[in-house]
Amino acid sequence: MGTSRSKTAADAPEMPRFARHKLQNFINGEFVAPKSGRYLDDINPATEEVIAAIPDSDAGDVDAAVAAARAAFRSWSLTPADNRSRLLLKIADLIEKNFEELARLESADNGKPISLARRLDIPRAIANFRFFATAILHQASEAHLTDSTALNYTLRQPLGVAGLIAPWNLPLYLLSWKIAPAIAAGNTCVAKPSEMTPMTANRLAELLIEAGMPQGVINIVHGLGPTAGAAIAAHRDVPVLSFTGGTATGAKVAAAAAPLFKKVSLELGGKNPTIIFADADLEEAIPTSLRAAFWNQGEICLCGSRVFAQRPVFDKVVEGFFHGAKSLRIGDPLDDGTQIGALISAAHVDKVLGYVELARKEGGKIFTGGHRVERRGYFVEPTVITGLQSDCRVLQEEIFGPVVTITPFDDEAEVIAFANSTRYGLSSSVWTRDLQRAHRVAAAIESGTVWINCWLLRDLRVPFGGAKESGVGREGGFDSLEFFTEAKNVCVKL
Ligand code: NDP
Repeated sequence: MGTSRSKTAADAPEMPRFARHKLQNFINGEFVAPKSGRYLDDINPATEEVIAAIPDSDAGDVDAAVAAARAAFRSWSLTPADNRSRLLLKIADLIEKNFEELARLESADNGKPISLARRLDIPRAIANFRFFATAILHQASEAHLTDSTALNYTLRQPLGVAGLIAPWNLPLYLLSWKIAPAIAAGNTCVAKPSEMTPMTANRLAELLIEAGMPQGVINIVHGLGPTAGAAIAAHRDVPVLSFTGGTATGAKVAAAAAPLFKKVSLELGGKNPTIIFADADLEEAIPTSLRAAFWNQGEICLCGSRVFAQRPVFDKVVEGFFHGAKSLRIGDPLDDGTQIGALISAAHVDKVLGYVELARKEGGKIFTGGHRVERRGYFVEPTVITGLQSDCRVLQEEIFGPVVTITPFDDEAEVIAFANSTRYGLSSSVWTRDLQRAHRVAAAIESGTVWINCWLLRDLRVPFGGAKESGVGREGGFDSLEFFTEAKNVCVKL
């Protein structure tokens, strides 16, 4: 999903090393201006003010970053795991030390409520570094004894320079989800945050210097996807790519990577079903499903945007969503009490409201919401839609905003067919007290994750990724460490 903001060039005066308002690329341990001298505006979605200028990097900047990462690779890959682990832990500690500042930056840059940045984004960034810092201390390698003839053992070696491309919805959370395992495994990296949310990545770069990270291990290049992002994806010296973003962009990244036989992990879009059976505990199912629909303004790939409620409880679920959506506090993301902040951009508001209009045309009833909020900034009301068929576009395409549909169903077979009817398969939630049904439905749903009687309960050890057009590959736990390493078999004749 590519929602771009209008960009203007800004001047490029001399930069202090710890730039705040005019960001620079972070290459080989230093802040450097883009070779072109061009900058882009970074806009606060809640105020529509320009809060920073960021480098409009191109292939030349990516070349420099890759060269720095290559130069640093040998020494970093030979650094004992214990030392790498200590550095990652130090980064986690520094993020924790600067918790409040990072939460504010994330909120101002993305438009999300600061309460959410405090509860979700920044804690998860800390957890990502801590998790992989310690995971590498617990890795074992396999061995295969071929009778009394040979002993095979498996080396898992880092690949070199990892290209890491992240989206704007969970900026530091997802960037660190890639950086931490990549470098923990002994790779170096070139990371690109979304040009719409560069602030916490820039602050992370400052913290890397403070942590004493060796030069060139982590490089951060800012800029647009089709230029800077595409240059990373197509770079000959980047053998491994981890990309999170929209499905259409993922296809471009895969196409760029294929002729170079890169290892690729793609975490893509979703259109996730929330299935509420009549026997569910509605006291818990409704508020949690409401959160699943509207957290982060619905801008989480795992949001449950298609609710299916069994007929006996359909009216109750609709009523719960109606009152719940109406009671959510929309406002200044920096206010502690705000629950719904701003969408990422004006273009994204248009896209989301375009789907509301489409829902009307497709025969849907806008139960609540459906409008832009009358205030400065890119705010859209939480919107609940009923009366649509499972195969219409609004239920098939990813909206990635505060819009949820609620559709009735009669039985298990019907709802499984509804759930599996889209081209996506990222996650799903099933609400029921019937344990056997829960297991049956979980096995039948085509998605990478199934939550039973919960949502977004994440254990970093579990495999994470999408089925169908929601992605390729799995990350998380040892899956991430396997992805960022190459297995080599060594066969010793006995
Ligand atoms: P995009 O696909 O537009 O962008 C993702 C990243 O890719 C950005 O850094 C973007 O840069 C960059 N990019 C854009 N074009 C190219 C290109 N041709 N080559 C290389 N990189 C490129 O996604 P959004 O940022 O709009 O994020 C929202 C999407 O991400 C949703 O579809 C959502 O479902 C998905 N997502 C998936 C997750 C998962 O785990 N499966 C988690 C979170 C989000 P720039 O923004 O600077 O243009």
